[in-house]
Amino acid sequence: MLAAPLQPGAAPPPQPSPSRGEGVSWHTASPPLPVKPRVLIAGAGLCGLTAALALLQRGYDVRVFEQATELREVGAGVQLGANGTRLLIALGLEAAMRRVVCEPTAKEIRLWTTGQTWPVFDLGVDSTEHYGAPYWMAHRGDFHGVLLAAVRAAAPDAIRAGAAGVGFEQTSDGVTLLLANGEHVSGDVLLAADGVHSPTRRQMFGEGRARFTGIMAWRGLVPMERLPEHMRRMVGTIWMGHGGHVVTYPLRRGEILNFVGVVERDDWRVESWTEQGTREECARDLARWHEDVHAIIRNIDTPFKWALLGRDPLPHFADGRVCLMGDAAHPTLPFLAQGANMALEDAVIVARCLDAFPVVEALQRFQAARLERTAAIVRGSSDNTKRFHNPALGDPASATAYVDREFAAEKMQERYDWLYAYDALRVAI
Ligand SMILES: Cc1cc2nc3c(=O)[nH]c(=O)nc-3n(C[C@H](O)[C@H](O)[C@H](O)COP(=O)(O)OP(=O)(O)OC[C@H]3O[C@@H](n4cnc5c(N)ncnc54)[C@H](O)[C@@H]3O)c2cc1C
Repeated sequence: MLAAPLQPGAAPPPQPSPSRGEGVSWHTASPPLPVKPRVLIAGAGLCGLTAALALLQRGYDVRVFEQATELREVGAGVQLGANGTRLLIALGLEAAMRRVVCEPTAKEIRLWTTGQTWPVFDLGVDSTEHYGAPYWMAHRGDFHGVLLAAVRAAAPDAIRAGAAGVGFEQTSDGVTLLLANGEHVSGDVLLAADGVHSPTRRQMFGEGRARFTGIMAWRGLVPMERLPEHMRRMVGTIWMGHGGHVVTYPLRRGEILNFVGVVERDDWRVESWTEQGTREECARDLARWHEDVHAIIRNIDTPFKWALLGRDPLPHFADGRVCLMGDAAHPTLPFLAQGANMALEDAVIVARCLDAFPVVEALQRFQAARLERTAAIVRGSSDNTKRFHNPALGDPASATAYVDREFAAEKMQERYDWLYAYDALRVAI
């Protein structure tokens, strides 16, 4: 069943009530447009749902089409910097998110062999003091669940599962999303948040060139209670080594530890959240690493394997009434932990643009605001591969000098301030 469209001028649907310290803070330059465009969204992932919520809160008729028959997210972690969390708070989701996230106190670097430790960031109250919003670490399923509940509270029938988009057609008056079952759905604008393998991007740009980076990521979750006492800490850790790095951080109020083990290995080329491996294979890939890393690997329930592919930034995101967003627009390596944060920024900015300008102009404004920043993040993430896997890390003596130099406070500030300070509630308009 398609959701019943809202009539132009109809009262906005109920909004999740803001909790203490929250408040929807939208900034529009022009008075609202008289007739709100009907919005089609392809993909009910983190980007599609956030865009849906931002638009529903402003009274738009939104219909979301998701290929999966069941609406859920994989078991993995996601780190949300101040640039992402300030948006979730503005959308009224602070209380719901705080029930499921972990707010870490700090981030640290550890050396792969000796376990030598360097503090690199204070988080917790520090993030709020410096950037005006917290740093959260979330289970993707929990985060997706919060977004889904908020969208359903605003418009119970807005999301349609088992509805894969396969293409679009547009005229100067409207756009049609073509579904795999042969249905044609009409609207005024199509936001394509259909992920890293986006069929909409394929229609706009052809197959595109994805380069295998020679790197793959192991992912897994570990119940914290299975780990030795000294490892049950509310900090994020980047273990760095020659030819690999490991990221661990706590989720779900500290009940679970998220593990991502990134290794240079060129025989695994499947880019998917759901390909399983074994603990033995993962342990072999990180054979010479510190015992704490192996304590985690031994306790992972199911390790998953993800091949990391690199793609060059696109020259544009918008084509008339159609616009790519999130991973569909700017797939990135995860080494700045910014893919989901960019998806949230996109969602809020596109909603603000649609609210202030006619559709085609709104998408152009969105694109103008997003091209440079997202390309810089894609490139910065790629640069971190060399930084995290530097040959100097092979030997403890050269590693100490390298980490002291490369991760000094002023360099960290230079590399991260512009990410977290960005305010998607204020740019573009
Ligand atoms: C190992 C790893 C770790 C990461 N860690 C972080 C992190 O710490 N912080 C961070 O910010 N980012 C991180 N990311 C990146 C982040 O996961 C993505 O950038 C984010 O999920 C993008 O959201 P999205 O909504 O654009 O895409 P997705 O979340 O992939 O959602 C796309 C949705 O579209 C649906 N879809 C696909 N095709 C169609 C179709 N034809 N029709 C309809 N629906 C369709 C899919 O089923 C899916 O529901 C990480 C990524 C990886 C691989």
